[in-house]
Amino acid sequence: MIEGLHEGNKTIDESKQGEATLLDSTKGGNKKLYLESYGCQMNFSDSEVVASILSKEGYETVSQSSEADVVLLNTCSIRDNAEQRVRTRLKQFKNAKKERPNLVVGVLGCMAERLKKKLLDQEKLVDLVAGPDAYRDLPGLISEVEGGQKAVNVLLSREETYADISPVRLDKNGVTAFISIMRGCDNMCSFCVVPFTRGRERSRDPQSIVQEAKELHDNGYREVTLLGQNVDSYRWNMSSKGRIKDESKPTVNFAELLEMVAQVAPDLRIRFSTSHPKDMTDDVLHAMAKYDNICKYIHLPVQSGNTEMLKKMNRGYSREWYLNRIEAIHRIIPDCAISTDIITGFCGETDEQHNDTISLMKEVKYDFAYMFRYSERPRTVAERKFEDDVPDEIKKARLQEVIQLQQQHSAESNKRQLGKTFEVLIEGVSKKSDADLCGRNTHNTMIVFPKGDHKKGQYVKVKVNDCTSATLLGEVVEEEKVLTTA
Ligand code: SAM
Ligand code: SF4
Repeated sequence: MIEGLHEGNKTIDESKQGEATLLDSTKGGNKKLYLESYGCQMNFSDSEVVASILSKEGYETVSQSSEADVVLLNTCSIRDNAEQRVRTRLKQFKNAKKERPNLVVGVLGCMAERLKKKLLDQEKLVDLVAGPDAYRDLPGLISEVEGGQKAVNVLLSREETYADISPVRLDKNGVTAFISIMRGCDNMCSFCVVPFTRGRERSRDPQSIVQEAKELHDNGYREVTLLGQNVDSYRWNMSSKGRIKDESKPTVNFAELLEMVAQVAPDLRIRFSTSHPKDMTDDVLHAMAKYDNICKYIHLPVQSGNTEMLKKMNRGYSREWYLNRIEAIHRIIPDCAISTDIITGFCGETDEQHNDTISLMKEVKYDFAYMFRYSERPRTVAERKFEDDVPDEIKKARLQEVIQLQQQHSAESNKRQLGKTFEVLIEGVSKKSDADLCGRNTHNTMIVFPKGDHKKGQYVKVKVNDCTSATLLGEVVEEEKVLTTA
């Protein structure tokens, strides 16, 4: 809930940023890869694609960079501080190269796409730069570096979805997994660098998504999160490889895709992120209401509570439209948790406009929020057309006010759960005590409870009897029950 934490889902927290992961399925390879991921869930999901591509070349992933032949950082450009963290890390690897000159260091993802050859030529920090659509080329790029060259591929594609690549699951819990359903973004919010770093929006073949969900379920996974920058604009058309060209051909939209995945297995939970208020249809809400195994949780970033600011941000909705979507959620899914993203101090934001964000928060009472102070990003419309004129102290003070209010709302939301019983999918041992297990309820809230004889991957009914600001505490009252679809 703090500025700079990952957007979109509570499961990735600061402790996981820049995380390296062991890769069992590639054990036995003779080359060693160290992979660190920063930023959004999409990047963590992409790292699994990268691990898969390189495992075929004999790369075993290691958890210590000191053991690696190749170090790859999958980076984020969303705010300046995200990039600064990566630069600091790259300087450490540059130093390491003095003692290990054969070490290959590469940058992947959004920073690679944004800075391109600058990272090689001006900053001389790395050997290899690969943008988000160039991962199939990684084996060739690494060979070029091994042959004494610097290597770059930052070509963006209109078609690449990596649909045929079976990601190597890097998150070791073996219960929850990400599935990317689309790539890129066409929305051009004026503050956002994503359309420049991840290219045009394209959807992935629904059959490959369903197949991936089936395989995960067969391998013991019990929850999938469908990922995209704006899942509500998911649209597959047989004539177009994911970009709509011929409207007369049958299409699959997000509501239909949700139903297809929900039908894979009644005990496979479905989550998704991120929804865009301008595109979220009642059909999606009805699909959520229809299936018990679609989790009742929506991340609906508002950014600002003031219509004029929203217009300047090019978000495509007004305060009233947004509140109408919140009303629709409550009407169609009465017990649905809602979270959001908020930016403070966007160009020209006045005290009154900021107060509109505060009043909207009081009206909606989010269960959870990711809150950021505005960070100007190169090439965006905001950078080119508006002045970043809200002083940093004011951005920070507004952010502080927003964080404090959200903490109050989150605490109230948690207190409302006391005495209730939830179905929890066990994800593993609690971080704080080996004697406890943890897992999330349908609302995406973490619940911690005594271990007993229960195991990872099981569903249990947990009665909540206490809470902290971010976690519910309880005890198991009933054994596993298989969820039922509609
Ligand atoms: N696609 C999602 C959407 O439209 O809601 C969000 C994707 S973005 C990776 C996650 C969040 O980062 C945004 O919702 C926004 O709150 C925040 N963000 C994006 N650009 C930002 C900027 N320039 N400064 C501060 N926060 C920013
Ligand atoms: Fe960025 Fe807007 Fe696209 Fe989200 S919808 S990724 S905020 S441009």
